[in-house]
Formats: sequence, C-alpha cells, structure tokens
Amino acid sequence: MSVLVLGHKNPDTDSIVSAISYAHVLNQRGIQATAVAQGTPAPETEFVLNKFNLKAPEVVTSVASKELYLVDYSDLAQAPADLKDAKILGIVDHHKLGDVTTDTPLECWIQPYGCSNTIIKMVADYYNVTIPADIAGAMLCAILSDTVLFKSPTCTEFDKKAAEELAKIANVSDLEALGMEMFKAKSNLNASPRDLIFRDFKDFDMGGKKIGIGQLELISLSMVTPELKESLKKELADVKAEGRHSAVLVLTDIMKEGSELLVVSDEEDVIINALGTQKSDNMWMPGVMSRKKQVVPPLQSAFKA
Ligand code: MN
Ligand code: MN
Repeated sequence: MSVLVLGHKNPDTDSIVSAISYAHVLNQRGIQATAVAQGTPAPETEFVLNKFNLKAPEVVTSVASKELYLVDYSDLAQAPADLKDAKILGIVDHHKLGDVTTDTPLECWIQPYGCSNTIIKMVADYYNVTIPADIAGAMLCAILSDTVLFKSPTCTEFDKKAAEELAKIANVSDLEALGMEMFKAKSNLNASPRDLIFRDFKDFDMGGKKIGIGQLELISLSMVTPELKESLKKELADVKAEGRHSAVLVLTDIMKEGSELLVVSDEEDVIINALGTQKSDNMWMPGVMSRKKQVVPPLQSAFKA
C-alpha cells in the first residue's frame, strides 16, 4: 500500500510542492508514496504547477488507518480531524514544533529554514536522490514563495543555496523574473472575501484561545480598494463569530516590504499592541512579511496562559 504525503490545510505552494517533491524522494528511497493535499491549489500554486507541467495532488480530507508523512506542519489544527487514527511515519517542516505526537519512532526533518522544500533538497542530497527538472522548478518556486524572493526574515543561506542548485536543474536563469511572474499570479483578487481570507489561513491555539490568522501577499496593497477592504473586514467578523477569540488578516505588500493589519477580536488592543502598531484605519507594520516569524510569536507570548 502506498503511503501518503500530506501538507497542511488551506494549502500554499510550499505545502503542495513539498507533497510532490517528498513523494518523489520517498519513491526513490524505495518507499511507495503518493502526494495528496487538503485542498485544491490557490492561484499561485496553480501557476507553478502549470509552469512545470505537474498535476495537482488528489484532495484528501480523511486519513484514518493510512500511513503518512506530514510536510510543512506539525500542528493538529493543520491536519485532518482523524489524524489520530493514522500512522505518522515522518515529518518535514520549518515551523515552530507543533502538538502532533506518535506511538512509534518516526523520521523527522525539522530545520529553522525558510521553506520545507529547502529541507527536502537536503534530504534528497543525503540519500543521493536526483530531482527531475519539473519538480526542481516547482521546488524553486516554493522557496521563492515562502521566502518572498529571499526578502523574508525567515530566509537563510541554506534557502539561497538550495534555490541556486534547483534553478540549475530546472534550467531557470532569472529567479527574480520567475518570482515576479509567480507573485502576479498570487495577487489575483478575483475571489469572494471569504475565499481571500481563507486562501492562506491558519488557526492557532494560544493559551486556550482560538486565533485564526490569514495572510494575503500582494505585489501592491493599492490593489485593495476601500470597498474590498470593507468587505474583508465584514467577512473577518463572521470568521471570528465562528467560534474564534480572534480573526486576523495580514495584508502584505511584497514590494514595500511591510504589512497592514485587519483584526476582529475580543481583545483587539492586546493584538494591536503585541504587533507593535496603533489602532487606526490603516494599521501598517513596516518590515513585517512573515506570519510564522513576526506575527505568531508575539501573539503567542501575549496570550500565554
Ligand atoms: Mn505552508
Ligand atoms: Mn512552508
């Protein structure tokens, strides 16, 4: 039976490409593996898969009695509800350590790098696995996406080196041009406010409070009209009302290298203060690009029980 390689909920490019690339590495290691995903590709990922002629992984929402590898997360909140009835064989991730646990030994590749695909390249090298050009191109895109073209504070030397090597395999010479093409695809606002909020959305348990944080990365925040911003705020209030203490949307301007904060919360002031901004119509946070490094940690400590 084939084992599954599964990324997180509301999958981003890294999580979908990690499933594809790690399934390849596992297959080359003699472990029959299939890439799956917890949702369909967002516009950026769709662009990447089309560009390198790769198929979107099959969508899976239940994993009971399956054997699986988790890629790009280790939080129960990011996993299918019946994960406890599955057997976890391994984890590849670059986030804070989550609350997934296992009954049996597992392989674990967790590094504080900018992208799960950087770690997968490392594992491929460790096992002498060669990566075909199409998968290498998609892995390169995942690194460019997660590190926002190497500008995110999460980016490390390992990410740059892996991207260079993958670019060679994929025959890509202009990383900047590829990155911009990808971010243009990502900046597609042609969706309902709800879909925009959930395009890249994660729920966190912070001191017993359920805090949902979405991030929309755009080439320019000028694309967000005042009307759209109003409807995003209205929708965010609905998202909060669905059993959350807070619903946060981080609107990131890739070129200006900063983010605007939208928040609906029982403790709005705590969130605004923790993120170092001030209550206003445009809560700009200069230099804030990364949810995992610049948004989640200050909120975690603000809501520590
Ligand atoms: Mn991800
Ligand atoms: Mn990632």
